[in-house]
Amino acid sequence: MPTDPTDTSHNSPKMLSQSGPVLESLFGPNKHRPTIIAGPCSAETEEQVMTTAIALAAGGTIDAFRAGVWKPRTRPSSFEGVGTVALPWLQRVQDEVGIPVAVEVASPAQVEACLKAGIKIVWIGARTTVNPFYVQEIAQSLMGTDIPVLVKNPVNPDLALWLGAIERLQQAGIKQIVGIHRGFTPYEPTQYRNSPLWAIAIKFKQALPNIPLIGDPSHIAGRRHLLNDLAQTAMDLHLDGLMIETHPDPDHAWSDAAQQITPAKLRTLLAGLNVRQATCPDTDAIQLLEDLRQRIDQVDEQILNTFAERMRIVRQIASIKKQHNITPLQLTRWSELLDSRTQKGIELGLSPTLLQKLYELIHTESLALQHQLINTPE
Ligand code: PEP
Ligand code: MN
Repeated sequence: MPTDPTDTSHNSPKMLSQSGPVLESLFGPNKHRPTIIAGPCSAETEEQVMTTAIALAAGGTIDAFRAGVWKPRTRPSSFEGVGTVALPWLQRVQDEVGIPVAVEVASPAQVEACLKAGIKIVWIGARTTVNPFYVQEIAQSLMGTDIPVLVKNPVNPDLALWLGAIERLQQAGIKQIVGIHRGFTPYEPTQYRNSPLWAIAIKFKQALPNIPLIGDPSHIAGRRHLLNDLAQTAMDLHLDGLMIETHPDPDHAWSDAAQQITPAKLRTLLAGLNVRQATCPDTDAIQLLEDLRQRIDQVDEQILNTFAERMRIVRQIASIKKQHNITPLQLTRWSELLDSRTQKGIELGLSPTLLQKLYELIHTESLALQHQLINTPE
């Protein structure tokens, strides 16, 4: 994807590269960050849907309503959604409550059912974005429509796959596209249900500066007490909006009970968010930042020169090891080095986690260079 040198995405409102009426009303020039999409993980009953939608619409809390109708579940024994019977309930939300509704689609048949019901927004779930065959089929079934499509990141941390799904939709002529960052399946258990890996969200913004990106703290968190902090992080990374699962009785929700919050709690969460802007009108403050950034530039130059010097020494070490047939890995030296640098770094006020990661990275790089030099014939 080409990046746009005239990117103004760091300023609100967003410059939408391609757009349409629904996207314009959610993210366009007259809309302030963050755009809020909320509603239950799953549509369960007509009453649950209507109660949630009315409570969320009160006071203009949300811009769009979400509800899963067909649920992609890890185990078939879990609740898999009520299916098409929910579509008339969601039509009521659009017609009577007056907010657009978003539904997850995973197949052309589901797309067709949503289009027939007049659903205004669809989204592609994380378990579908992973599969180019499914995405292609969905894209084809959407051809000729101008319905907005929200594209969740794939469950695995693969930016290209996420961008590829968006390209497939663009090739099918879809113009109203939004990304949703919902985190990635962790390899090992973490405090989160899905690892945020915010760096991937940042790369998404770099690759597609004019496509809105919203955060889904609910599916990252997995547990509601983690939501506020994740929503704030999404705002601090200047994401354009939030999708948050909301249920009138979260503990008894038929899916994702632990992560849902009531509409009242959503209002409290939103009221507590500090929505910072990308810049400020205070020229003194901007100048101060500029001066500090120049100092950072100088320090970075020192770091790079020092690192290059370190790698030159590694080359000399490799040459001696090669001559004397010594292994690149020297376990005792490595353990001592890591201990002493960690100790020194902690004294300098650096975090042990950073030191560990930094030195593991440096050591891995050093070993790789030695491996290459030692095994290259003269
Ligand atoms: C959902 O939004 O309810 C959902 C199933 O999300 P994801 O595709 O992110 O797992
Ligand atoms: Mn869910």
